[in-house]
Amino acid sequence: MIKSINPYNQEIVYEVAEFDSKEVENAINKAEEQYKIWKNIPFSERSLLMKAAGDEMRKNSREYAEIITQEMGKPITQSLAEIEKCANLCTYYAENASKHLADKSIETEAYKSYVSYEPIGVVLAIMPWNYPFWQVMRFAVPALMAGNVGVLKHASNVMKSAMSIEKIFEKAGFPKGCFTNLPIGSKRVEEIIKNPKIKAVTLTGSEAAGRSVAALAGNEIKKTVLELGGSNALVVFADCNLQETVKTCVQARFQNAGQSCIAGKRLLVESSILEEFTKAFLDEVKELLPGDPLNEKTTIGTMARVDLAEELEKQLKDALDKGAKILLGGDRDKAYFEPTVVGDVTTHMAIFKEEVFGPLIGITAFKNEEEAVALSNSTPFGLGVTIFTEDFEKASRLIPKLDEGAVFVNELVKSDQRLPFGGTKNSGYGRELSQDGIQEFVNKKTVYIN
Ligand code: NDP
Repeated sequence: MIKSINPYNQEIVYEVAEFDSKEVENAINKAEEQYKIWKNIPFSERSLLMKAAGDEMRKNSREYAEIITQEMGKPITQSLAEIEKCANLCTYYAENASKHLADKSIETEAYKSYVSYEPIGVVLAIMPWNYPFWQVMRFAVPALMAGNVGVLKHASNVMKSAMSIEKIFEKAGFPKGCFTNLPIGSKRVEEIIKNPKIKAVTLTGSEAAGRSVAALAGNEIKKTVLELGGSNALVVFADCNLQETVKTCVQARFQNAGQSCIAGKRLLVESSILEEFTKAFLDEVKELLPGDPLNEKTTIGTMARVDLAEELEKQLKDALDKGAKILLGGDRDKAYFEPTVVGDVTTHMAIFKEEVFGPLIGITAFKNEEEAVALSNSTPFGLGVTIFTEDFEKASRLIPKLDEGAVFVNELVKSDQRLPFGGTKNSGYGRELSQDGIQEFVNKKTVYIN
């Protein structure tokens, strides 16, 4: 059995029997059968079904949000926001997929030449628990609109979310086999990637999982999209709007208890405002309200699993051993980790070099633009960065120097369905969302007619 355990009270939320090899194979066979029909369904019909999936999530948002909160500890208001974001994604692709995938005419010597965007078949999605609906929908909605079908291997601690997403598509009227949940652990992924009916793989999760899956898929010559970890810097210049910057930084780090790939994980602050900024930042962090994540007033939940909180504790200890100082928090009770701020952080500490996936942030001072850029770029990750400054010329000067998938100015790095999303370096490759995302899993067919 695979179990979901509520990290707030350790109660079992859901149990499901793991599929055996035969069940997995049958599910993939059915998905492929369905693909042969689904790929010929016109965009207008796919759009109607996708809008219905969005409507289903809006109608029963509370039910789905509670599943998220119970499985991984996110405050209910943030779970509701996640469901709404998924519903809006359905509407967006229902309205835009046919434009995104319209034939592209290219003038050559031929009578006619163009590119057409055709589906490729059954795509495997391996997804994490931190945004258990959004991460899946971000893959599934464009994939289905493009005429592909999806099979999901969700994280083992959020199998009720996985089952619910499959039901949402069924309730919306998608034919069986368009989207299939496979309740399995990660050991079973290899046999799925090797199945010739699987045409491509997308994974969101840790670097280790990404390396393993990409190696297996590479051996099978199957395309992968990887959305892995990040260690985004929040770069605070002395000429920022301090009040707004502090609010944005707290949200960037502490929403979802810090468990987001694009969370701001390192605070880099210009030395001339270090003291003033730190004081204001600590005051704002103290406003976070812990408690039962099902309570609407709670603004900081527990982490998703006890082992993840233990890992964070080890990273904190490493920093303290190397000379960092706790400015706020630092204690853990099972999966609950206090919002924690650490000062005097240097580049050789784990909380600077590694991904810090929880409610903890370190502060490092910098003297000038060059040092800020060097510090921001000095991790193996490249998902995104935020610069806080009122000087737009300075921002424009710095943007090309930052080795990231995204640069945001005076705003936290966030995903937006209209914009491409993805990383550089060890944060992965490929893009999700927008036109770029829907074009990842298609055959860009060159047509030349003379
Ligand atoms: P994992 O990367 O291990 O899990 C993400 C998904 O990948 C899950 O579905 C998991 O399945 C699966 N998976 C794990 N290992 C393999 C493998 N070798 N082959 C195939 N599939 C695999 O994340 P964790 O839950 O262990 O979290 C550990 C750390 O990963 C976090 O602290 C954070 O740093 C990072 N992370 C980053 C995320 C992001 O959004 N970038 C999201 C989640 C985690 P199963 O659950 O069955 O193991």
